[in-house]
Amino acid sequence: MSNDIKTIAMPDEKGFFGDYGGSFIPPMLEDILSEISTAYDEISRDPSFHEELNMLYQDYVGRPSPIFHLKNLSAKVGGAQIYLKREDLNHTGAHKINHCLGEALLCKKMGKKKIIAETGAGQHGVALATAAVLVGLECDIYMGEIDIVKEHPNVVRMKILGANVIPVDRGTRTLKDAVDVAFEAYLGDPVNQLYAIGSVVGPHPFPKMVRDFQSVVGNEARVQFQDRYGKLPDNLVACVGGGSNAIGLFSAFLEDENVAMYGVEPSGRGFKDGDHAATLTKGSPGVLHGFKSYLLQDDKGEPLPVYSVASGLDYPGVGPQHSLLKDLGRVTYVTASDVEAIDSLFELSRTEGIIPAIESAHAVAFATKLAKDAGPDKTILVNLSGRGDKDIDFVVEQYGKEYGVE
Ligand SMILES: *Cc1c(COP(=O)(O)O)cnc(C)c1O
Repeated sequence: MSNDIKTIAMPDEKGFFGDYGGSFIPPMLEDILSEISTAYDEISRDPSFHEELNMLYQDYVGRPSPIFHLKNLSAKVGGAQIYLKREDLNHTGAHKINHCLGEALLCKKMGKKKIIAETGAGQHGVALATAAVLVGLECDIYMGEIDIVKEHPNVVRMKILGANVIPVDRGTRTLKDAVDVAFEAYLGDPVNQLYAIGSVVGPHPFPKMVRDFQSVVGNEARVQFQDRYGKLPDNLVACVGGGSNAIGLFSAFLEDENVAMYGVEPSGRGFKDGDHAATLTKGSPGVLHGFKSYLLQDDKGEPLPVYSVASGLDYPGVGPQHSLLKDLGRVTYVTASDVEAIDSLFELSRTEGIIPAIESAHAVAFATKLAKDAGPDKTILVNLSGRGDKDIDFVVEQYGKEYGVE
């Protein structure tokens, strides 16, 4: 395994993690991406860049985020001890600010004026708009018209932060079309703009770059856990949409063979096509949005519709490093359903006073199951990727009655 570990930790220079990743893009994009790749390589070797980013992590985001022992929930479950890495306590309420600040600083150092991106539920848009203000960049966020109506509070946040929210009226008027339109806008002016991807997906160098920025989560957690408890956690658990919060936690532990890792995908309403977004569990290798990975696709290689109660998890692809980690068996990919996630959201709220994002509640749901089957001397560290404030109106409207909230 130790030889394999080296290859799974770093992609080759073309951005391949084993067979996955790379960059499957039109020739006109090649120069642009290699400019980003070169700039990122240079900047990532520059100590002053890391110094600046680390100061922002500390003073602006509030890092390091704490690790918290869920004594109440662990006692209630009656098995292993469960701990959270509290990414929900970050400024803006989730892990996404970690890579958005990195991408915004990179954009600034490359001498570009504007940072652009697509957003689905608006979480990436809000984190990027925040980072853009701080670093001094203009910010354009492309968003489907349907999502604009659905995710009104995040649209307002982006506008208060001074970002331009650009409605996309094409096709399904949701995330996939927003990606297409944002990419076209990027191709229209690659000199003055940088495209900032919202997860460890897309063509090289994005999966590597976003992973590097998110690795602060695992690097902190490893030291914190070791210092406090004198050993490493036995198990790591994180939810997987595109896979950035999961890889951020896992990357520091890949060589620790005694640390088991679990990535939790959304099984939504069940495993019928269009009812889930369990890409690694149910998908097969293919190419989407410029990179090779496991995908949920039809016979012709077209992406299938996906669904999850957590809008941050419904993507038909997944970061390429996860595909390799699955094939090597280093990470086990499992699922949690809508119902299990909502149940865990209420359970964590009512045992520990922490309302998690619905995305993160998928990880808590699986951790609870895992804990039941393990002894009290075993430990499970969950990446709590975000807080649930953004979800409470929806949760109460859809599920309130069952939980006595009306
Ligand atoms: C966006 C989001 C996710 C999913 O993205 P990953 O790239 O898989 O981490 C998970 N949790 C929260 C709170 C999010 O906002």
